[in-house]
Amino acid sequence: MKKTTLLHEGKAKKVFLTEDSDLVIQEFKDDATAFNNKKKGTIADKGVVNNAISCKLFSLLEENGIRTHLVEKLSDRDMLCKRLDIIKVEVVVRNVAAGSLVKRYGFSEGTVLDQPIVEFYLKNDDLDDPLMNESHAVALGVATLEELEVLRSRAVAVNTVLKEFFAGRKLMLVDFKLEFGRYDHGILLGDEISPDTCRLWDLETKEKLDKDRFRFDLGGVEDAYSEVQRRVLSLD
Ligand code: UDP
Repeated sequence: MKKTTLLHEGKAKKVFLTEDSDLVIQEFKDDATAFNNKKKGTIADKGVVNNAISCKLFSLLEENGIRTHLVEKLSDRDMLCKRLDIIKVEVVVRNVAAGSLVKRYGFSEGTVLDQPIVEFYLKNDDLDDPLMNESHAVALGVATLEELEVLRSRAVAVNTVLKEFFAGRKLMLVDFKLEFGRYDHGILLGDEISPDTCRLWDLETKEKLDKDRFRFDLGGVEDAYSEVQRRVLSLD
């Protein structure tokens, strides 16, 4: 399958149309942004690493009965995907307090939550992706109540699979963001799952192995991403 026209260029990926109108190619870039584009940079080989990690995790989810947009990994940076009508909702799942949960609600970083917290954010860079509830999402027309219920339960199912998988690789899945899209009368998981979109801490040392190293200039960004890749792709 070959790329035809560029459909969309985002912060971390380009999306190309293909000869098949149902399929697109996601090309993973090395560009990194944080704080809604206020901080910009590149992380060497991030695109290659995030494509490899995302393909592995989407395959794992498919094996566990969770449908995703992945068709196949085409090359180092290219993922062939079903073309989704992206739902403008970012779904965040949290197992451990970090990031905006600490800032907004005063949790101490690292507090293990009894139950995962699921949050919805409006996918809108101009508005800084505001936190919203179901009523906001329905009023804005971005999703129906039924779709939001699917997103919530699907996100919890993804969390159950990923949390166990990462724990087996000595990684703590602190929190992560998912995006979904409509496809053929159903809803599929889309976008990517990578150290750009997850917080992952070493289970024992609690060392941060994710984009927080870039966000907060902690150093060792590339090493952290490749360590996650090594553990994710390690054989069972
Ligand atoms: N996240 C993301 N994209 C966003 C916002 C958040 O991938 O636009 C991920 C982030 O990497 C973290 C989780 O979602 O794993 C929760 O992020 P949080 O709300 O704590 O916000 P942040 O600290 O990223 O501003």
